Amino acid sequence: MANQDDQFKKVISHAKEYGYIFQSSEIYDGLSAIYDYGQNGSELKKNIREYWWKAMVQMHDNIVGIDAAIFMHPTTWKASGHVDAFNDPLIDNKDSKKRYRADVLVEDYAAKYDTKIDKEVAKAAKRFGDSFDKEQFLATNPRVLKYTEERDAILKRLGQSLEKEDLADVKALIEELGIADPDTGSKNWTDVKQFNLMFGTKLGASAESATDLYLRPETAQGIFVNFLNVQKTGRMKIPFGIAQTGKAFRNEIIARQFIFRMREFEQMEMQFFIKPGTQQEWYDYWKETRLKWHLSLGLGSDNYRFHDHEKLAHYADAAADIEFKFPFGFKELEGIHSRTDFDLSQHEQFSGKKLQYFDPEENKNYVPYVLETSIGLDRMFLAVFSNALQEEDLGDGKSRTVLKLPAVLAPTKAAILPLVKKDGLPELSKKIVDELKWDFNVTYDEKDAVGRRYRRQDAAGTPFCITVDHQSLEDNTVTIRHRDSMEQERVAIAELRDMILKEVDMRYWLQKIEDK
Ligand code: ATP
Repeated sequence: MANQDDQFKKVISHAKEYGYIFQSSEIYDGLSAIYDYGQNGSELKKNIREYWWKAMVQMHDNIVGIDAAIFMHPTTWKASGHVDAFNDPLIDNKDSKKRYRADVLVEDYAAKYDTKIDKEVAKAAKRFGDSFDKEQFLATNPRVLKYTEERDAILKRLGQSLEKEDLADVKALIEELGIADPDTGSKNWTDVKQFNLMFGTKLGASAESATDLYLRPETAQGIFVNFLNVQKTGRMKIPFGIAQTGKAFRNEIIARQFIFRMREFEQMEMQFFIKPGTQQEWYDYWKETRLKWHLSLGLGSDNYRFHDHEKLAHYADAAADIEFKFPFGFKELEGIHSRTDFDLSQHEQFSGKKLQYFDPEENKNYVPYVLETSIGLDRMFLAVFSNALQEEDLGDGKSRTVLKLPAVLAPTKAAILPLVKKDGLPELSKKIVDELKWDFNVTYDEKDAVGRRYRRQDAAGTPFCITVDHQSLEDNTVTIRHRDSMEQERVAIAELRDMILKEVDMRYWLQKIEDK
C-alpha cells in the first residue's frame, strides 16, 4: 500500500513538474477535484482524443461524430432519469466529519480479497515454477475459493441493496463488515443518504424569467436528442453509431484521487443504434473492439480486466467496465452498456415527438436499441501517464526517470539538440526544426550538457532526441537517440521525417487493432 501511495504521489508531482497537470486556480489554493492541463498535458489529452476519434469515426464507415452543447433543455434530464435517479449513496463519519461514498467503501473492502488472492497466486507461482497453471489454481485452491466466495457474496449483497434502494442494508453491511473510516479508523457512521450529482445553474437575465438548467452530467443525451437529425441528414442505416467527445460535470461526493474523479471532466462516448434483439451480439462486439483499442497502445494486457456489473443502472440490460490497474489498484476506465430503447423511448414520451427508425428490410418502424461505449478522457490520461512513469535502474548506482508514453500520444515527438552552442550547430539544428515542424511537434534545446538534455526529454516523454554535431556540418547526418532503449544511430537528416513518422503515425498504431 505504501508503495502504491508513493507511486501515485510521484505521478502527481511529475505531472506538475513537467507541465502536464496543474491544480485549477492554484494561486487561490485551488478548487477541489478541478484541474487544468498544461502545455504538455493539453497535447497529450488532444492526442488521446484524436486516437479515440480516428478509431471510432474515421475507421468505421457507419459511425459519425457530433458536437452538442453542454446546456440542454431541462426536460432532457427528467426524461433521462437523472433528476430522479442520478444519485450516489453517501455516508458521513461522525468523528472525522469526512464524507464517503458508501458503495465505494464496501467495494474497497471487497477489493482486499483480490489482493489476498494475488498473493496466493504469486506464492504458488513461485512454488510450482514453470508447471504452474493459474486458471486451475484459481478454480481449485481452497483458500482462493473461500476468498472469492466471500468477496462475491459482499458485492452481490451490495448490488442487491442498491438495486432495491435499501440504504439501511448498505449501512448494515458496512457495520457487519466492520468497515472503518480509512483515514481515522472510526466506525461511528451516519445513515446512508442519496445525493444528486448534477450541478444546477440558471439561464436568462432576470430572476423571474430565468430557467433552471443543469450542466450536463454525461455527453450521451446530446446524442439521443439528435438521433433523428443525424439519421435523416446523414441517411444512416441501422446499425450505425454517433460519437462525441466533450465536457461533463458531476458534483462528486469524494474527490481525492487526482484526475481519476473530477467534478469537471471530459467524456468520449459512442452510441450505437441497433435492431432490438441484436444487443447481445453488439455488446460482445463492442467489449472486444474497445479492449483491442486499449491493447493497441501497449500498456500491457495484464493491466486490464473486465468487470461485469451486478447492479445495473436504470437504463441498462447489461453492463461491463473495462478496468485498468491504476497506481491505487484496478478501477473503472471505460463502461460498455446495453441501454435498450430506454433513452429514445423516454425522449419520445417527454417530447411528444417520434424517435423511430423505418427499417426498409423489415418494412416497419421501431425505436432502436442502443449499445454505448463511454470512456473518461481524463481517466485514460491517468492510465497512460501513470503507466508510463518509470524509474529505471541503469546499473552502477545510476538511474533515470523516464516517461515511456506511447510515441503516438507523446506531446513532443522529437527534441533537436546542438552538441555545442557555436560553430554553426544551432543554425543547422534550427533548420531541422523548421523542416520537421510541418509534420510533428518538435522542440529545440541548447542548454546544459547533452546528457542532461537527454534526461530532461526522457522525463518529459519525448520519444526521440536528435543531436547535431560537427560531423553533421560535413555529411548532413545526425545522431538519433531512442527514449526507451537509449540506443543511438547515425542517420541522414533527409531520412529523419520518415523515421519518426514510422513510429508516431496513428496509422501504424491503429492497424494493431485489426491485426489481433
Ligand atoms: P464511477 O463508478 O467511477 O463513478 P460511473 O460508472 O459513474 O463511474 P459512467 O457514468 O459510466 O461512470 O461514465 C463513463 C466514464 O466516464 C467512466 O468510465 C469514467 O471513465 C468517466 N468518468 C465518470 N465520472 C468521472 C469523473 N468524476 N471524473 C473523471 N472521469 C469520470
